[in-house]
Amino acid sequence: MSYRTEKLHEEKVFKDPVHRYIHVRDRVIWDLIGTREFQRLRRVKQLGTTYLTFHGAEHSRFNHSLGVYEIVRRIVDDVFRHRSEWQESSRLLALCAALLHDLGHGPFSHSFEKVFNLDHEEFTQQMILGDTEVHAILKRVGKEFPKQVAEIIAKTSENKQVVSLISSQIDADRMDYLQRDAYFTGVSYGHFDMERILRVMRPREDQVVIKQSGMHAVEDYIMSRYQMYWQVYFHPVTRSAEVILTKILHRAKDLYKQSYPFRFEPTHFLSLFDEDVSLEDYILLDEGIVHFYFQMWEKEDDPILQDLCRRFSNRQLFKYIEFDPAKEYKRQFELMTLFKKAGIDPEYYLVVDSSSDLPYDFYRPGEEEERLPIHLLMENGDLKELSRHSDIVDAISGKRRTDHKLYFPADLLYDETSKKAVKRQIRQLLRLEE
Ligand code: ZN
Repeated sequence: MSYRTEKLHEEKVFKDPVHRYIHVRDRVIWDLIGTREFQRLRRVKQLGTTYLTFHGAEHSRFNHSLGVYEIVRRIVDDVFRHRSEWQESSRLLALCAALLHDLGHGPFSHSFEKVFNLDHEEFTQQMILGDTEVHAILKRVGKEFPKQVAEIIAKTSENKQVVSLISSQIDADRMDYLQRDAYFTGVSYGHFDMERILRVMRPREDQVVIKQSGMHAVEDYIMSRYQMYWQVYFHPVTRSAEVILTKILHRAKDLYKQSYPFRFEPTHFLSLFDEDVSLEDYILLDEGIVHFYFQMWEKEDDPILQDLCRRFSNRQLFKYIEFDPAKEYKRQFELMTLFKKAGIDPEYYLVVDSSSDLPYDFYRPGEEEERLPIHLLMENGDLKELSRHSDIVDAISGKRRTDHKLYFPADLLYDETSKKAVKRQIRQLLRLEE
């Protein structure tokens, strides 16, 4: 038996709160789970700073990756198997890509990528193609296999069918994280009938389509995604924590650039500060390391670094107001001037943050991201783009909602031990006094 088709003597089963059980029969999958690169995902939370808003949201990227694998396994083994449009030879490729699709995520990816100019997708590619344990296992399957898996994840593969299973507007990735994030945050959004959606999925030559009879389950899925974005993913308190985290990283980087004498050498951060991160440096980063440095930095002499780290660790977050930077640039400028007068550095303590989402989009070639639309398989065999058939989806498709907020440390503005008059002026301008 070849490594590609080798089965375990006994099936391995993971207990999972979302899918109940995750089944592993393939030797390759079991070996991939055991690699250091995959185990590292246990130490990276799926939702970054969200645990500071929803305390249950402590689940990891490891949980999610296993979940995406399980959804794809069910699709290919229970729904697609023996269908003429499905190539059984794509099975292992789909399973490996599902399992490894988030492999390159680091701790608090969003902030780290912004400040240190990183790209987790690029690291996913490196971990699959570079000198890693994951690469060694994939290569045992076939010389070209690592490259094939990497291309599915990068969406450059010619196997569009498998690409759409892992990343499209209704893919295993989204179906897992919506349910998982709903479960761990405890919110009542994010639920939809996945069993039904899986049963009506059909393979087509270049994509996965949904039987017309499953349309309402898909509508429910799209609405749940829409609600999760605004209730959980873009929650203003989570964003406040993210703003502080980003500013900590900025401050530490700026201090390093100014040759600030750190009391404690930030060894794990040096290559990040220099924007020259090797794969090995990156693999060593996890959230434990980040929290450790934040504790050390609370003891630094720099008042800004010390204050921001204390805020993050003790959840003393910034407050916010609705704010449109395009219309209120004058007010923003006045606030910056007053902050400086009050001795509060606006660079770190007055931050505009924007979030936006497109709940569903039909195909518009050449637009910023060309998203694959969801196609319904009609009874007569025709394909119809979802928003042309569903009034609910039509009502929200192609509509981008953007939300801007201005973040600031309200506690400092109410501290009247110094600069009392200026702080009062600031509070008035922020309309905190009404
Ligand atoms: Zn994912």
